[in-house]
This record gives sequence, C-alpha cells and structure tokens, in this order.
Amino acid sequence: PARASALLAGLVVLVAGLVAGLTLLVTAGHDLLPPLVSSGNFRTLSQSGVGRVMIALNLAALVALVAVTRCRTVGQLGLSLAVTASLLDVVLTLQSGARFTLGWYLARVNSIVSAGAVLAVFLYEIAALYHRIAEMNESLGRLAFLDELTGLANRRQFDERLRAEWARAQRRGEDLGLLMIDVDFFKRFNDRYGHPAGDDCLRQVARAVEGAIRRPADLAARYGGEEFAVILPDTDPRGARAVAEAIGQAVRQLGLRHEDGTAAGIVTVSLGMATRRPSPGAPPGAVETLKADADAALYKAKANGRDRVAALADA
Ligand code: GH3
Ligand code: MG
Ligand code: MG
Repeated sequence: PARASALLAGLVVLVAGLVAGLTLLVTAGHDLLPPLVSSGNFRTLSQSGVGRVMIALNLAALVALVAVTRCRTVGQLGLSLAVTASLLDVVLTLQSGARFTLGWYLARVNSIVSAGAVLAVFLYEIAALYHRIAEMNESLGRLAFLDELTGLANRRQFDERLRAEWARAQRRGEDLGLLMIDVDFFKRFNDRYGHPAGDDCLRQVARAVEGAIRRPADLAARYGGEEFAVILPDTDPRGARAVAEAIGQAVRQLGLRHEDGTAAGIVTVSLGMATRRPSPGAPPGAVETLKADADAALYKAKANGRDRVAALADA
C-alpha cells in the first residue's frame, strides 16, 4: 500500500507538471508553436496529420481503458464514456473544418452533455457508496450490542445498561431489580436432542423472556450460554418477583419436551431475583453486590428443586 500510494502520488505530480508545462507552452510560448488554426480554420490541423495523431491517441486510450477495466464498475463506465466523448469531440471538430460551423457546435454540445453525464455518474457512484457504508455501519453497530443466536441484548449491552441503571437508581433513590435466569438441566437437553435443537430451544426461551417483560426501560439479555438476565429499573421486590414468575410461566407455556429435565417433563428455568436501592455514597462498583445477590438467589432456586423463583431472603 505504501508503494502504491507513492506511485499514485508520483503519477499525480507527473500529470500536474505536464498540464502546467503545456499550459505555459500554449500561452507564454504561443509564438514558438507552428500555426495550425488560422483565423478559425482547422484545415491545416486536419491535413498536417496532427489531427490523425490526436484521434489515434484518443482511440488508443479508449481501447486500453476498456481492455483493462472491462467497465465493471459505474466509475469505470463513466471514465470510458468521458474518453469516448473526447474522441467524438476531436473527430467532430476536425470534420467541421472551421469554428462556428454546425460540426463545431455539435462538438461543443457533445462536450457539455458528456461532461455533465460523467459528473452525474460519479455523483451517483459516490451517493451509492455512501449509502452502502451507512448501512454497513448500522449493521455493525447492531451486531456489537446484540446476541447473535437469540437477538436479545448481548453481555456487553447488559453490562453497560446495568451500570447506567445503577447510577440512575442512585441519583433518584429508586430500587433496581435484577433477574438471573438459567435453563434447567440444559446439558442433558443437548445430550438427548442435539445441539441444533438446543440452540432452537434457547431462541424460544429468549422469546418467552422477552415477551414477559412489559416496561420499555426493562432489558432482557443473554448473559452467556443458557443463562439470561433481566434488568428491571425502578422495580421493588414485589414487582421483580411478579416479572420472574411471569417469565417462568411463559417458558413452561412453550411446552418444549425435555424428558431428562425437571418433573414437569418440559423445558423449565430457575430464576434468582434481587433488588437493591443504591445508597447515596456507594461507589459505582457496588452494582456487583446486586449481581452477587441475584446469582446466589439463582443457586438457591436450583438447590430448592429448580423450575422456580428464589430471592436471598427466601427460606
Ligand atoms: P442446571 O439445571 O444445574 O443449570 O443444569 P445444566 O445442565 O443446565 O447446567 P450446566 O451449566 O452444567 O450446563 C449448561 C449447558 O448448556 C452446557 C452446554 O451443553 C449448554 N449450552 C451452553 N451454551 C449453549 C449454546 O449456545 N447452545 C447450546 N445448544 N447449548 C449450550
Ligand atoms: Mg448455567
Ligand atoms: Mg442450566
């Protein structure tokens, strides 16, 4: 890439130098040049062979351009169009024989129209490119915050939101609720029904979790593996328990057969719930205590027989 950009820079300097030199020649050095056009008449130009050389150069440029690029992109097509227009310009001008004839006017119109067309092609190309980049950017942004399997928020989004909601609860003196959810005997589910069925089960459980939460501020996330988490801003213990029970119920209602699972014979989840009201002086890291509470509550739900909700304070 470094060598390519050095080559490109060299080419740009070369072309700019050529243009400057030729401009100088036809202005300051005008008298050094042989008279090809006298009083608006191009006949000397056509007859001296210079015209043929110009046509040949344009034609060679066009052939080379098409051979190398094959006009695969809109930009390459535009460039070929520009060279074709230039060729047409030279031919028309030389054929017209003199200024202000029909051919000469045709050549001028051709120049304006083709230059406009090329410009439009490039503008279109740039707009399309910009649109594609904006789309890709958006989908990248989505991917960075969503779990690929379930479409729920991923662990990164969960961590960010939990910290933000903790700080908000602290500012407002509100409760913050957290649920940790774990599918019961999921290893055995995979062993019996296979991993694709396991993945499908996780997707359905995710939909059930998502469907059971109501408030726009609530966030359901895939915490990892077969574990999910739900953030419940401004929710007291009674509210958190109600949401947890609703999620457990929604998963049971899926009715997914799981013969090596809990006594219900279907896929069930265990839920650990915790709520805390952050004390005004607590450091941001104190959010970890909420997570630890919910995690300990989840283990209690497992120990008490699974397929249930538990809080730390429960028996
Ligand atoms: P428990 O009731 O105690 O939670 O038992 P368990 O088998 O669910 O618990 P454990 O944590 O031992 O096993 C979790 C299993 O979940 C391990 C793995 O087979 C499965 N698992 C984790 N992530 C995925 C996944 O993305 N897809 C599938 N198909 N299975 C997964
Ligand atoms: Mg687990
Ligand atoms: Mg499990």
